[in-house]
Amino acid sequence: MNRPVLPGATIGVLGSGQLGRMFAIAARRMGYRVHTYSPEEDTPTGQVSDVEWSGDYEDLDKVAQFARAVSVVTFEFENVPAATAATAERFAPVRPAGSVLHTTQQRAREKTFLTQAGLPVTPFRVVRSLSDLHRAISELGAPAVLKTADFGYDGKGQVRIDSPAGAEAAWTRLATAEAVLEAFIDFECEVSVVAARGVDGAFVHYGVVENRHSRHILDVTIAPAVVGAAIVKQAVEIARAVLEKLEVVGVLCVEFFLTRSGELLINELAPRPHNSGHFSFDACVTSQFEQQLRAVCGLPLGVTTQMMPAVMANLLGDIWAEGEPDWAAACSVPGVKLHLYGKLAARPGRKMGHLTALAPDGGAALEAVLAARRALTAR
Ligand code: AMP
Repeated sequence: MNRPVLPGATIGVLGSGQLGRMFAIAARRMGYRVHTYSPEEDTPTGQVSDVEWSGDYEDLDKVAQFARAVSVVTFEFENVPAATAATAERFAPVRPAGSVLHTTQQRAREKTFLTQAGLPVTPFRVVRSLSDLHRAISELGAPAVLKTADFGYDGKGQVRIDSPAGAEAAWTRLATAEAVLEAFIDFECEVSVVAARGVDGAFVHYGVVENRHSRHILDVTIAPAVVGAAIVKQAVEIARAVLEKLEVVGVLCVEFFLTRSGELLINELAPRPHNSGHFSFDACVTSQFEQQLRAVCGLPLGVTTQMMPAVMANLLGDIWAEGEPDWAAACSVPGVKLHLYGKLAARPGRKMGHLTALAPDGGAALEAVLAARRALTAR
């Protein structure tokens, strides 16, 4: 059952965004075929796949046909419904397993799992009514952040509550059956660890990177983060514990807040390659995408060594406001690599691509990537 899926075989990807695209590029480079499945057409992943299946995730007959056509199924989008993963699992191994999706696709479940595993999370309460919310605020204090339990990402489905008087408006605005109230963390910085676990339990990681957000969306990742060795050790041990306890086969990202007193608190988990690991595509011996491929195929995991300091900057749809960005200007900055995801419409806030700058030191890489991004719209 655990025989490796070897080059020449077909990998199925549930979801069709940029993560699937970069995964498919890694897979095709190693001689695999790729099928992608999502409700859309002409997608970032579909454009570089052998076959693009367009169907609803709820169309379980079609999901079954898709799973029959491939040797192993992975996903690039964790909000795939549980029934979709369960159907695929009847015909092909799904890695990571549907149980990992189940735990991580709902905030209350994820945080409860982490707490029970003895891992440090932002203090939280599960909230199902306005009176629950009042009680949670009195226990955790204000400010606090109320987040929907389902389908939240990039700050969507979140409301900050500055005082108990703001509870009712926040509850009405979120309009959800279940939410999580989190204490507001006045953090020093945000960091993450992208890691992978193989079919045989092998573990590798990409060190600790710093993530800077703008409007709740990742803006810049600095790899490696400038933090002490003790923080790196602790963050990696926490990541290892998460992957082992969840029995992940594949890549998973642990996002943390690093508090001003030097404490690491898990903010959330992403059971897949992550935006904060994009630097690895250009900067590491084995990228997070190739690592996902190796893990889900049961191949030995690759060396993660980072060859040069790197900084990644996201390109959002906003930079198209004045017309097509000046790609040539960005490409003229030494050490800068351009990635575009092939998305058909540039909307504000939509992740359209990224730049990665490589340089002998992190400061120079940050300067280069920001200069390249400014150059895109400088005309
Ligand atoms: P999330 O979608 O939960 O990752 O939240 C997006 C961003 O909002 C995070 O990366 C933080 O910058 C900010 N944020 C979320 N939760 C908190 C919190 N409890 N305290 C402070 N900032 C937060």
